[in-house]
Amino acid sequence: MSQTEATMQKIVSLAKRRGFVFQSSEIYGGLRSAYDFGPMGAELKRNLMNEWWRAMVHSREDIVGLDASILMHPQVWKSSGHLSSFSDPLVDCLVCGERFRADKAPRVAEGSDAPITLADKGRAKAALEKLQEAHGVSLTRSGKTLAGAQASDRGYVCPNCGSPFLSDERQFNLMFRTFMGPVDPIGKVVDTVRAAVESGEDGKAIRARVEDALAESTVYMRPETAQAMFVQFPNVVQAMSPKIPFGIAQMGKSFRNEVTVEHFVFRSVEFEQMEMEYFVPPGEGPKWLDYWKDERMRWWQSVGLKAENLRFREHDDDELAHYSDGCFDVDYQFPWGWDELEGIASRTDYDLKAHAAGSGKKLDYFDPQATNPETGKPGWRFVPHVVEPAAGATRGALAILCDAYDEEPADADGKGARTVLRLHPRLAPVKAAVLPLVKKDGMPEAARAIVEQFLDAGINAKFDQQHAIGKRYARHDEIGTPFCLTVDGQTASDETVTIRYRDDRRQERIAASEAVTVVQEALRR
Ligand code: ATP
Repeated sequence: MSQTEATMQKIVSLAKRRGFVFQSSEIYGGLRSAYDFGPMGAELKRNLMNEWWRAMVHSREDIVGLDASILMHPQVWKSSGHLSSFSDPLVDCLVCGERFRADKAPRVAEGSDAPITLADKGRAKAALEKLQEAHGVSLTRSGKTLAGAQASDRGYVCPNCGSPFLSDERQFNLMFRTFMGPVDPIGKVVDTVRAAVESGEDGKAIRARVEDALAESTVYMRPETAQAMFVQFPNVVQAMSPKIPFGIAQMGKSFRNEVTVEHFVFRSVEFEQMEMEYFVPPGEGPKWLDYWKDERMRWWQSVGLKAENLRFREHDDDELAHYSDGCFDVDYQFPWGWDELEGIASRTDYDLKAHAAGSGKKLDYFDPQATNPETGKPGWRFVPHVVEPAAGATRGALAILCDAYDEEPADADGKGARTVLRLHPRLAPVKAAVLPLVKKDGMPEAARAIVEQFLDAGINAKFDQQHAIGKRYARHDEIGTPFCLTVDGQTASDETVTIRYRDDRRQERIAASEAVTVVQEALRR
């Protein structure tokens, strides 16, 4: 097992053991790429999303919030281009049968005629022999190398076995579709197909007929939250009279029928996004793209991600959508390598224009103070341009877990090894644990009274008297509780408790009445 796999396995195991993330429907064998956030994970993800909302909506005057439906009019996805092009290029490996995304496959250096290394996997070996038999493909094998085999001119190989023998690419649309209203989609399909077959139509025509028959009841689970901000643009402008530049922010569930299973919750079929559309005057996209790059990088660091684990990746020209005039990913260094956490794109006026064309409605903005560049007179009506920072909350929670995960070795006496989650106090699921040293002598009662003080202040503190004190400290280190407050024999006489700091295990005595203030201060930082 590689170092990477070992680290990931430890994080996944802690996530399950301590109630952060479970496989969805686990008792039934689980549902592929679907996960449930357990009691600790639900708090962590919610805290992260609250931080985002606080930074985006509550701490500034130029952004308002939105909470839109997951199901939208199907025309939305036609106008936005998702129906025709929100797809992944899928390929099957002809050697081992792996199905994978062409755009994520390992690249082969251009012009390289070096032999391609075929991973020595049982499945690949057996399949290769079959392929040779069936197709008469003649290959010379030297050890694990397919000598002379050229990568197809597509420039990538199978991520599982390294083979360059691949099927054609097929576009696979990622949107989940379902049916709204009292319809029996299967009945409709059967009736349509029967009628089409009777009239002797070919496969292509039958397919088109079936699509038509289902079209009026078909709806899609949104694959991103962003489109609602464009579609509701005129209502928000009408209701709020915002002064440009301004933004509309939304957090919530999105759904993608992801085919490749990858890295725990990093790529899941149902996940939460935190997206904001920032509307600016034409020509100001690049300037605001720079602004939002800085803001977002700062924010990820403010919630605890280490600067050295974050970077920008600029999209190449051939990666940029045709309408975009600049796009950067915020990448995080996950245990398996750099990968996308957030995309920040300058989208020009593409989205509002696309929905204006699709709906026949005007999606523009009138600025009475601006000078119209064509007439030179005051008052300018224009279609705003958009800069979009689009972040993943589910992916963000995983990055936070990976960054906070730490193991401390034992000291010279073999004591003190521990696993600790160094979460920012604002993200920690439990802010303070209040622990009676023993279950007698009034200690549990005194501890409960301290918990009450926290709850009155709106801070999530937990009473915990299960197991020996060392075990309780270990448990709270593993869920990232920043403070443990221990009530002991001395508490009754002088009303003090021991506070133990998670990060350095330092302990000191403080007045029980100060406990809430200490935690409040840490939460403010
Ligand atoms: P990828 O290239 O990884 O498929 P993307 O570029 O398609 O991602 P966007 O459409 O830009 O992603 O979505 C914005 C953010 O939503 C991503 O940066 C990511 O954090 C999150 N996200 C997208 N797809 C998923 C998914 N399947 N599971 C979890 N988070 C996702």
